[in-house]
Amino acid sequence: MTWLRREDLEAQERERLADCAAFSDAPGGRRLPEPEDPLRTAFQRDRDRVIHSAAFRRLQHKTQVFSADEGDHYRSRMTHSLEVSQMARSAALALRLNPDLAEAIALAHDLGHPPFGHVGENALDALMQGEGGFRHNAQGVRIVDVLEDRHGHGNGLNLTRATRLSLMKGVVPDGFPLSDDLLMREEPPLEAVLVDRCDKIAYVCHDLDDAIRADLIKVKDASDLGLWKLAQDRADSEVPSRVYSEMVAIQLHDLVQASHGAIANGRQERPTIQHSSDVRVKSQELLAFLRTNFYRSERVLEAMHRGSVKIESCFRRFLDDPDQLPAPIQARIPSIGAPRVVCDYVAGMTDRFLMRL
Ligand code: MG
Repeated sequence: MTWLRREDLEAQERERLADCAAFSDAPGGRRLPEPEDPLRTAFQRDRDRVIHSAAFRRLQHKTQVFSADEGDHYRSRMTHSLEVSQMARSAALALRLNPDLAEAIALAHDLGHPPFGHVGENALDALMQGEGGFRHNAQGVRIVDVLEDRHGHGNGLNLTRATRLSLMKGVVPDGFPLSDDLLMREEPPLEAVLVDRCDKIAYVCHDLDDAIRADLIKVKDASDLGLWKLAQDRADSEVPSRVYSEMVAIQLHDLVQASHGAIANGRQERPTIQHSSDVRVKSQELLAFLRTNFYRSERVLEAMHRGSVKIESCFRRFLDDPDQLPAPIQARIPSIGAPRVVCDYVAGMTDRFLMRL
């Protein structure tokens, strides 16, 4: 047996992956051209750069739903991202899509989240009205393109175009400072769609798990859900954690089964990656249940409200007196203006750091 060079891995991809997959020998280039790695493919390198970034490390203290300091067993954005990446890798392998790209996207997909989740996002967006606004997806791209400037070359992590396009999801507010080459919206690789589906599978399941752990949801109430019943039957167990893991498996298998035909037949120009209608209905039901009983529960809303008040006061304080910002952060003000600099700084904070300020 000989060792595998990058070229061998690329050749394996050409043999194994579906025609509609993203191939690491054609990743659309990097903004700053650089020599290839002898061992790793372009997407494996993207993944590693994300893992080694400070923004990724900060995810461990960022809220998924609970404030990260409420308890050691609740999901943080980092554990969420790891769960998504594991699911996306498995599903990508099964569907003959690129597992390394799926992994890179999944690990990076929440990098742009400010402290206190969507409430924090809305607070920053309101504070940045007329200044380009704020959205976590666009901010994620800004982090990998600009803010993670470890090498000082001004191209951030210098990820491949395929990975960067995959992080461009949803609305980008008017005037948000995106890299020029992303201003024209382009369809992302299928791996991005797959990660998106896995993101949802992960959070509906683990949020239910966390809510039960926090005693905000009772097992007896959850057990009326269609997905719970199905999982309980299939697992032949009423142990909540067993039911929970079966719920993940059901949705992942369904996603693969309902999508593989479109990917395999290759005739469809853009195969759809989706659930069967039965599982889609069941997971929608679970999401609606979580909204009512968890995301909009008093305890969660209260914690989120505290966070959003804190974000606002912190933003205003730094904007009124930018001298309080760390020197390297202040240095960006002449080129992009104080509001965006303060917004980037506050958005990058962990829940913990913000609350201690
Ligand atoms: Mg997510």
